Amino acid sequence: MAVCHLALVGHLLFYPVFYFETQHHHFFLYYYLSTTGRYFFFIIQMDHNSSSSHFHHVSHESGSKLTATPSQIMAMLNIIEENILPKTREGVNRGNKVFGAAILDSNYETVYSDTNNEIHCPILHGEVNTILGWSAIVPASDRGLHAKSAIFLSTHEPCCMCISSIVWAGFNTVFYFFPYAITTDQGIPWDVETMHELWGVDSYRRENKFCKTACLIDLIDSMNESEDKNKLIKRKERLINIYHELSKKYHNEKGSNSENSLVLN
Ligand SMILES: [Zn+2]
Repeated sequence: MAVCHLALVGHLLFYPVFYFETQHHHFFLYYYLSTTGRYFFFIIQMDHNSSSSHFHHVSHESGSKLTATPSQIMAMLNIIEENILPKTREGVNRGNKVFGAAILDSNYETVYSDTNNEIHCPILHGEVNTILGWSAIVPASDRGLHAKSAIFLSTHEPCCMCISSIVWAGFNTVFYFFPYAITTDQGIPWDVETMHELWGVDSYRRENKFCKTACLIDLIDSMNESEDKNKLIKRKERLINIYHELSKKYHNEKGSNSENSLVLN
């Protein structure tokens, strides 16, 4: 790895000319020019594991996945429907997108919830707007401690800006309802496209030193058959239908909304 970004080693000149990667390996194509004028190309291949060792000082995956009990999942679905959704309906009426979030205490009680407000400012995604409102009600002296014990709940899987904002605010436990695939189906491909175009990846790492995230729909679907699971599935399907309808409303109305000149709309 040490050779990869060196342009000059001793009397030899190395020019990195091309980089590409496959599922398991990185490849660096180098152009080599010796002092005698001879030249040739060569390729350095590395597997992803060897390159990720670069980041071990900031990444300590424990291997344990974030999960929640059926009653905790139900509490979060209630919060989405009762706390976040009313604000999102109002937001969509003003021409905003359908994304919302809530910050919960360790007893799964809502401390603050809010919704997307991109009409006011394009970076006020649901999560960022929620962190902003939470910062207004939690004193600066308490925020760090509060964030560490809090649960960040997002209606949709956070985009690269929002997951970074969540981490920068100090939250380390993140649940979301809709995964990227459903957000894309709801007409918003930008979460995936920005992740891919800016960073060349399909997703942030869902378990890392700073946070763990889990998808509520996945947690429900992976439960063993039980009465609890049946109740959660019904609730899940109701929420999916509500958000599908809200998404349709947003997309149907955005073209005629003179306030909505969002580039990523
Ligand atoms: Zn976002």
